[in-house]
Amino acid sequence: MTPEGEALLRRGAAELGLQVDAQIPAFVQLMALLQEANRKVNLTALKTETDIVLKHFVDSLSCLRGEHLDGAQQVLDLGTGAGFPALPLALLRPEIPFVPLDSIRKKIDFVRAAAEALGLNNVQPQVGRAETLGRDPAHRESYDRVVCRAVAALPVLAELALPLLKPGGRLVAQKGPISEEELQAGRRAAGELGGRVTEVDAFTLPVLGDARTLIVVEKVGRTPKKYPRREGVPAAQPLF
Ligand code: SAM
Repeated sequence: MTPEGEALLRRGAAELGLQVDAQIPAFVQLMALLQEANRKVNLTALKTETDIVLKHFVDSLSCLRGEHLDGAQQVLDLGTGAGFPALPLALLRPEIPFVPLDSIRKKIDFVRAAAEALGLNNVQPQVGRAETLGRDPAHRESYDRVVCRAVAALPVLAELALPLLKPGGRLVAQKGPISEEELQAGRRAAGELGGRVTEVDAFTLPVLGDARTLIVVEKVGRTPKKYPRREGVPAAQPLF
């Protein structure tokens, strides 16, 4: 990463109230790993240093707004792709265990290799579908936070995430601007699944000013056993 890239990362993080000086060498290494892997397999559409710094690293760190992850014991990153938001979050919060999950093996192979190279002992990547884990007693109701970025509409996320959360746990969904229609559908889906939308935090991404929303869904009851429906159904036939 160039000195300009490092300065941009420091500035973006500072706008979120975060200090990343100690983690700069790790972010430099992650940038190199990502760019090298991206030359061989198509891991992420973002290729330039500026895009990766702002739209992957800083954007991922914006999940720390509102301190929703504080005290978390086990955080699942649903649909992590090349490790976002899990890897930047794990770098800043080494005391929190993260499970980056994706259904695509080559993405998880990268996340595992990157976590090892960065010495991140708090990252345990997992290949699989959220629907499968949600029905597996080893994972159902096992996480106290689920984070996710750019995976699906809110009603779909609610069906994928709420079965995985312990009662009292929270889904922290990172999105662009959300329409009133998607939000209402998400509220209805959350209600059906034992959850409640407790926060809609609209903000702008540091430096770029792009609109972002963090939506928090709290698990206030139990998720009926019939959810999640089988693989692919939540996205193909959203509940609301
Ligand atoms: N979160 C990453 C990011 O923001 O860069 C990746 C976003 S990418 C658009 C969505 C990812 O979610 C893909 O890698 C896809 O394989 C994964 N995904 C979608 N549905 C999933 C499911 N039901 N279970 C596990 N992974 C899923």
